[in-house]
Amino acid sequence: MPDELLERLRRFQDQAFPAQRSLFRHLVEDGQHPLTLFIGCSDSRLVPYLLTGAGPGELFLVRNVGAFVPPSDQSQGFHGTAAAIEFAVLNLQVKRIIVCGHTHCGAIRALYGGAPDEAQNLKAWLELGREAALPVAEPGPDVLRRTEQRAIVLQLERLMDYPMVRRRVEAGQMTLHGWHYVIEDGEVHVFDVETGGFVPASKAVNAGTGPYRFDLPDDAFDASGVPSL
Ligand SMILES: [Zn+2]
Repeated sequence: MPDELLERLRRFQDQAFPAQRSLFRHLVEDGQHPLTLFIGCSDSRLVPYLLTGAGPGELFLVRNVGAFVPPSDQSQGFHGTAAAIEFAVLNLQVKRIIVCGHTHCGAIRALYGGAPDEAQNLKAWLELGREAALPVAEPGPDVLRRTEQRAIVLQLERLMDYPMVRRRVEAGQMTLHGWHYVIEDGEVHVFDVETGGFVPASKAVNAGTGPYRFDLPDDAFDASGVPSL
């Protein structure tokens, strides 16, 4: 029986790699200088390179269940995502951070129940999205979509608790972007911080929040501190 995975590795080196050999060599000799930190959900249907048309060296990529951002204060133990944020901002000096969630997200659905009892790490991790959940026992598609979008905004806000992120955003050196990828449409809806809503990329005037603004009108926020969606 052929080892399919081994076949794929060989195919990559024999067929795909040669066309990009010089690019990879350059990236090795010159090092990586990605401008974008992409924090995306681990979902297999979210393909950041397809979505953005990015190639090797362009995305510093972090993926986890739900595209969540842990607190910056280490209050919840070790977090690879927190380390990646610090590395991307301080060492690589990325110019933008994208938080990308999506429709039909299992992590968001699990906020309403469904994580196995044995999945203790998963249950603890999901708490990072808890504030986004709406007070509904049996969420329908609309509630789930709103929760997905609220979770993205929540992560952007938590990003701003990282001192090096806040410093650069406030200085206009870095932008934050909240993206909600609608898998079935092939379209990203981008968070507009001024209206508190998500705008389809086909209608949006920019790819995200731009510099994070602090002069939001009070009514842009609901009681949970998350912009109304
Ligand atoms: Zn997901």
